[in-house]
Amino acid sequence: MGIADRYRKEYDNVARVCAQCGRDPSEVTLIAVSKTVDLNGVKEAFDAGARNFGENRPDQIVQKQQAYPSAQWHFIGNVQSRRISDIVRTSCLIHSVYQEHHLPKIEAAAARIDKIQDILLEVNVSGEESKHGAAPDDLPQLLKVAAQCPHIRVCGLMTMAPQGDATVARSCFHALAQLRDTVANTKELCASNIQLSGLSMGMSEDWQYAIEEGATMVRIGRAIFSDDFN
Ligand SMILES: *Cc1c(COP(=O)(O)O)cnc(C)c1O
Repeated sequence: MGIADRYRKEYDNVARVCAQCGRDPSEVTLIAVSKTVDLNGVKEAFDAGARNFGENRPDQIVQKQQAYPSAQWHFIGNVQSRRISDIVRTSCLIHSVYQEHHLPKIEAAAARIDKIQDILLEVNVSGEESKHGAAPDDLPQLLKVAAQCPHIRVCGLMTMAPQGDATVARSCFHALAQLRDTVANTKELCASNIQLSGLSMGMSEDWQYAIEEGATMVRIGRAIFSDDFN
């Protein structure tokens, strides 16, 4: 099987899992994480119907977005201040914002090009030290700062589960969904540019559990782009 077949298979699997847990497949976006392939790999997925792609390097998102401007490009990597203008110029959604000092920089970059930048706040719910993301307790402060940024719209939360244990992954996704509900119901954290319906969670190994726990976006890389996954 090549990239196109694997993309179609994952796409169908996502729709099947949605149906099995009583969700409408249109509620869940499959983001094809193309960070390990070049433009030829992107072309295969694009031609098979993929329109949402995820990248974790600014240089790559700039190059690939330019080649496929009609696709939606999601930035899922480490945000660095000096690359924020490139990320804002090219990404429909930045999934991986968790440092307070990046918010005014994203605000300024978005204002310069007259854009409202959609972002997610990345949360480290598992507490694994190697993982990026804000501690759950830091979310209120991030939301207060974001509420002051008219060119930013906070669309939800993102997390990465530890790999290798489905039970741990599921509890991580469950915790993110609960955290989202708690924060969304906290009146002091309401603002017109904060709308927490999005949950970006689930990767090749564990996206099924993420959909069952309420994911609205799954980020699938190896299951589509690698020959030796499975
Ligand atoms: C690489 C990556 C993915 C995709 O992971 P796979 O296991 O290849 O599906 C998802 N999210 C983030 C943040 C990543 O860096």
